[in-house]
Amino acid sequence: MKGYRQKESLFRVLKIALLLIIVVSVSYPTPRTTQAAQKDIIRTPHYLFLFIGDGMGAAQVKLSSALLESGHTLAMTSLPVLGMATTHSAERLITDSGAAATALATGSKTTIGTISMAGNHLDTLRTVAEMAKAKRMKIGIVSSVGIDDATPACFYAHNASRANLYDIAVQMASSGFDYFGGGYSLGNFPENQIKSKTFRGDITTLMQSAHYLLARNNKELNTIKPGTRCWAYSDYDSKGALSFAMDRRNGGKIELAEFTREGIRLLDNPKGFFMMVEGGKIDWACHANDAAAVAHDVEAFDKAIEEALAFYHRHPRETLIVVTADHECGGLSLGNAANGYETRFDLLRHQKISQQRFAEKVHTWKQQGTITFPMALDSVKVYFGLENVDAGDRNALQEAYLTTMKSDAPGTKGNDAFSPAVTSLLNRRAAIGWSSNAHTAVPVQVFAIGRGAEAFRGFYDNTDIAKKIIQIAGLKPSGK
Ligand SMILES: [Zn+2]
Repeated sequence: MKGYRQKESLFRVLKIALLLIIVVSVSYPTPRTTQAAQKDIIRTPHYLFLFIGDGMGAAQVKLSSALLESGHTLAMTSLPVLGMATTHSAERLITDSGAAATALATGSKTTIGTISMAGNHLDTLRTVAEMAKAKRMKIGIVSSVGIDDATPACFYAHNASRANLYDIAVQMASSGFDYFGGGYSLGNFPENQIKSKTFRGDITTLMQSAHYLLARNNKELNTIKPGTRCWAYSDYDSKGALSFAMDRRNGGKIELAEFTREGIRLLDNPKGFFMMVEGGKIDWACHANDAAAVAHDVEAFDKAIEEALAFYHRHPRETLIVVTADHECGGLSLGNAANGYETRFDLLRHQKISQQRFAEKVHTWKQQGTITFPMALDSVKVYFGLENVDAGDRNALQEAYLTTMKSDAPGTKGNDAFSPAVTSLLNRRAAIGWSSNAHTAVPVQVFAIGRGAEAFRGFYDNTDIAKKIIQIAGLKPSGK
């Protein structure tokens, strides 16, 4: 018995000693491994990308990939992590870009049309871009629409209304951010300058006084040196935005992907950066129910994502890329009642210009007053590939054409019934359905890759996207 107890206690001692050896060897591996492991634990991503496809629901993404040349997949759908997010505002199930971008930028719900302020319009909400700046990271804001439009504005400005464009643009100059690229400042248009009660002068002058170099074409942008504050824009339309991707055929213009690539070049530094890139024209194409324009602008947005992915492959451990949308727009469906189970998306490839560009032509015809309906129908064939129009459709188009030519007020939208009628016919033939000219409450996809990306799996709210970025990147929601 005694011998057995002795043996047992000896066995216990040996067991404890063995355990200690295991614990010690696990806790104290070779110095090199320890350093690498610690680095991995400590290191948070310090290159942060947030891509926002305005109005880009799952159907918009699928439509674009269906129209791309075979064998090419969208970069965003190749990202390994997929989630979904709800988009409602504080007061309404169907949001707008102000409330939605506030959620994505700050992690808080707010009311429609509000720019990174609480719904009471008294409390300012701190944005992830401001938090990243407080961490001495560099900040870039890129959009294919006006740089003071709701989505980009929500990252650098705070205002009770997205309509106060000039006041929002002024905050771009005082933001201290490093790079603004894409569309022009809509707030700097004279009609918006005079609306401001606190007009302080031209936005370009304010930006230059705040040490921003202006780059108005590829050449100028290429020569800006990293570390220099820069505001880049090239061509823009009457709403301060880049033209639709499918209408951009002339060289020399800066594309969304180039704004992104050059932004990365200017922002890259050891302390890291935060960059928000918006594909804003996807939404505009959806409002117009212009399916081909949607597909091309999703593709242009995806090319910008490719630039971030190229950067990610150089810094995989320190980069986080998140791609999402602020809301769906148009209630796009792939398939319609007229075609049942058949789809003819290939018909959209015959569309050569956007509905908006076509509407500009219709507007010119109206001013000229010499274009007959048969001539207009010829143009429909040229620009939309619509042939063999049967009697019923022909009558509907003719009625829309005559109404448009007769309407008194000038303008290309609102008074133009013909251009939407043309795209509507193309949609019907191609088996594209639209339920709305406004936004919808359909949840949107979230794609992610890089350090911390796993957190973006699952189904959550758009406010959680900002909260996840804040947590993963170790940003401080309040104070400096
Ligand atoms: Zn919209």
